[in-house]
Amino acid sequence: MNAGSGGAPVNRRQFLRAGARALALVGAGGLAGLLATRAGAQTLVWQIDPAKCVNCGNCATQCVLKQSAVKCVHAFALCGYCQLCTGYFEPEPNALTTAAENQLCPTAAIIRTYVEDPYYEYTIDESRCIGCAKCVEGCARFGNGSLFLQIRHDRCVNCNECAIARSCPTEAIQRVPVGQPYRLKTDAH
Ligand code: SF4
Ligand code: SF4
Ligand code: SF4
Repeated sequence: MNAGSGGAPVNRRQFLRAGARALALVGAGGLAGLLATRAGAQTLVWQIDPAKCVNCGNCATQCVLKQSAVKCVHAFALCGYCQLCTGYFEPEPNALTTAAENQLCPTAAIIRTYVEDPYYEYTIDESRCIGCAKCVEGCARFGNGSLFLQIRHDRCVNCNECAIARSCPTEAIQRVPVGQPYRLKTDAH
């Protein structure tokens, strides 16, 4: 068991509740950023349907921005808080530690934090995430599918034609109303 910001013990149940709150804030925070930067000029924005995404890797390479506007986000309420997270670790890690050689993410964007035996929390440092979907694929294949990709509206410039959408093999990127700019996962697959 570890300690929260106020020094009080934090158990897994509290982490799950905090996760649910964080999930709700994905939409609110992103929308605030969008409205602040876009001045409400658009009524539709681009977004990924996580149910259609097949983790092809194009989101990391096809965005017009130098670092993709697509980021991995985490549905904490779906996460198993696994010690052996298949979205975090290489398929055959040398050890279940945070050593770079054991991590699947090419940019070390996933932060692994001990909760209580045997649970760990995984959070995304979006400043490092390039939207490559390697972690999403790993989590979907062997875990709960709690990691998924979303276009972050504090970064996306809302191109008339999204370059990633043009190259997406499954038409997973569509326009959605600006008032509901995220497609959040609520069910594991
Ligand atoms: S593996 Fe790729 S999508 Fe996942 S956190 Fe790292 S950079 Fe982002
Ligand atoms: S709309 Fe433009 S900036 Fe936004 S994700 Fe697509 S290509 Fe990137
Ligand atoms: S291009 Fe489409 S299928 Fe490929 S990672 Fe992006 S949303 Fe998923």
